[in-house]
Amino acid sequence: MSMTSAEIRSAFLNFFTERGHEVVPSGSLIPHNDDTLLFTNAGMVPFKDVFLGTDKRGYTRATSSQRCVRAGGKHNDLENVGYTARHHTFFEMLGNFSFGDYFKREAIQYSWQFLTVQLGLPADKLWVTVFETDDEAYDIWAKEIGVPEDRISRIGEKDNFWSMGDTGPCGPCSEIFYDHGADVWGGPPGTPEEDGDRYIEIWNLVFMQYNRQPDGTMEPLAKQSIDTGMGLERIAAIMQGVHSNYETDTFVALIQAAANAVGYEDLSNQSLRVIADHIRSCSFLITDGVLPSNEGRGYVLRRIIRRAVRHGTKLGATEPFFYKLVDALIKQMGDAYPELVSNQQRIEQALLQEEQQFARTLQRGLSILDDALSELEGDTIPGDVAFKLYDTYGFPLDLTADVARERDVKVDEEGFAVAMDEQRKRAQQASQFTTDYTKQLKSEQVTEFSGYGNTSDSVQIVELFHE
Ligand code: ATP
Ligand code: MG
Ligand code: MG
Ligand code: MG
Repeated sequence: MSMTSAEIRSAFLNFFTERGHEVVPSGSLIPHNDDTLLFTNAGMVPFKDVFLGTDKRGYTRATSSQRCVRAGGKHNDLENVGYTARHHTFFEMLGNFSFGDYFKREAIQYSWQFLTVQLGLPADKLWVTVFETDDEAYDIWAKEIGVPEDRISRIGEKDNFWSMGDTGPCGPCSEIFYDHGADVWGGPPGTPEEDGDRYIEIWNLVFMQYNRQPDGTMEPLAKQSIDTGMGLERIAAIMQGVHSNYETDTFVALIQAAANAVGYEDLSNQSLRVIADHIRSCSFLITDGVLPSNEGRGYVLRRIIRRAVRHGTKLGATEPFFYKLVDALIKQMGDAYPELVSNQQRIEQALLQEEQQFARTLQRGLSILDDALSELEGDTIPGDVAFKLYDTYGFPLDLTADVARERDVKVDEEGFAVAMDEQRKRAQQASQFTTDYTKQLKSEQVTEFSGYGNTSDSVQIVELFHE
């Protein structure tokens, strides 16, 4: 049974509505009143305070399709985009939540029922993991659901203890994987080949039990709760009989639009995938109020736009093209997200402006980088070259690293940080002589700053380079 992404989204929400869950619309990508998080990175984020017990709602069961960005902070998939079949900077997370209502047994039963009955997936393609010491979850899968034991594995903290960030709600989890078949390289969860794309993680069931404190202690939550997350794009790939998310309906349309906009024909090109991914995160970030800038969230947005523009240039684009993709995006996602439609002009303008600004230095910077690469002895671009590209040509460090990676070369990040530091010191010394000017500059920077506290997730430019 082939299903479009839109059909899967509504099938999911309907399934849980029928089981007493309140449908809650997707919240913003900018977490509300939360200084600990850069972007909404999971479906549970808008419910964080409900899990903690400080916010009460008129329901104890909820379901949503939440827009998420993982391009900075604890969950960052920017470097995976274009390299794996399953990662995006922007994706939709389908979720069902219980706030002190049902717990492990029902969460597991619901997920199994949705996948094998509602969607009709063959049970023998599904693999399951539990947290290493969670015998209760193990027994539910093995004895009640009847998953053969050779398809259940016990996994440690890195993958099977989920947390939103360094602090906040967290707990052991149980995950469901889909086997895309022997044509694709990769091994089942818990094996050395698990990072391949054959066994793809589709659904994470988190058994919320603790609130992690800044000092690392785990405070038990008053009520045991459930938070689950399934990537819409990953389940769409399965339902549409393709292996990669980039071959699903939404992405095929965006890749085609990108190909038209840059005048490139081979639709399997990796750069087209990157561009198709990036137009989603950039458009939604702008919709939710972020604008390109040199700090914090705005700098993440700037980095993503510039990466997309560089990939377009690589395919032959000679004029702004990225902003033209908003139209195709709205055709794909405007029904589910009317805010995209009402913000179309604003998105296009912000993208175009950033493209134009970067265009002034992009070509020159690329040829400097090209020279550096062809003269390179060894496998590392020196930090001072990367810094010059950053400082004079507006190349975020990760963009330089992205180009370098295509040639199997790294960037000396430490050398870059040193060069940056020296520049800062020079600027400080100079500022002793021009006090008034500096004051003015500072106040301009403040108005650009989107404003959140100094936590591990809040991004200073320098920290961004060390993710
Ligand atoms: P992976 O191990 O594949 O990186 P994850 O363990 O980081 O995924 P979770 O934090 O458990 O993912 O998120 C729940 C679900 O959200 C995943 O099972 C997956 O279906 C989806 N998901 C997570 N990250 C991405 C992404 N970058 N792009 C698309 N879907 C994602
Ligand atoms: Mg991940
Ligand atoms: Mg995982
Ligand atoms: Mg996971």
